[in-house]
Amino acid sequence: MKLLVVEDEDKMRELLDRGLSEAGFEVDVAPDGVTGLQLALDNSYTLMVLDAMLPGLDGFEVCRQLRQRGSSTSILMLTARYEIDSRILGLDAGADDYMVKPFSFAELLARLRALVRRGLQTWPQYIEKGGVRGDAQNKKVIYGSTEVVLTATEFDLFRCLFEKSDAALSRARILEAVWEFPFNGSSNIVDQYVGYLRKKLSPLSQVITIETVRTLGYRLVLNTSGSDTK
Ligand code: CA
Repeated sequence: MKLLVVEDEDKMRELLDRGLSEAGFEVDVAPDGVTGLQLALDNSYTLMVLDAMLPGLDGFEVCRQLRQRGSSTSILMLTARYEIDSRILGLDAGADDYMVKPFSFAELLARLRALVRRGLQTWPQYIEKGGVRGDAQNKKVIYGSTEVVLTATEFDLFRCLFEKSDAALSRARILEAVWEFPFNGSSNIVDQYVGYLRKKLSPLSQVITIETVRTLGYRLVLNTSGSDTK
């Protein structure tokens, strides 16, 4: 399985190269964003470990450009602790996950494997309810002539809520269904992602509402009855 590491710190890059190769990945490395972007465009990597702060083109921009060009590589971004807010930017740029340095290598491996598993899962391509269609392969939500394109993680979150629409789901349950492994500490990643998803789904706000259920979590409500759009 091909994996690209983009990291400007030599020691970290060598560590990732060695560790991930030993774990069975076919690893390529790039020391800066321009090289990384070019390699990613020329090769179809399953996974990418992308440092946020890079000379020249930074990780967010690399991520954004790859997504703009339709790349479906699963991207895990690395950010330093003092850049903690930048992880939000990373996810917004289309990254699938992030880790804050310093991190444990075992956890990095676990998260990469979760991303691979998610990519390999054979979900039905379409899930449909009340005229709203989720296209799992293309990560789209379609209603009438409106199409919304989501990232892989956003789509998993959408699917989790959509499949159980009208039911309130706890944050813990959503976390387990979408991320598949426990996050360290009190992560508000579910809330962050619900925010992204709400924003992306705003063109469909007449039809899909994600409600906050106090002290518990979230509920997706479909309002397609009485609508004449199909
Ligand atoms: Ca760096």
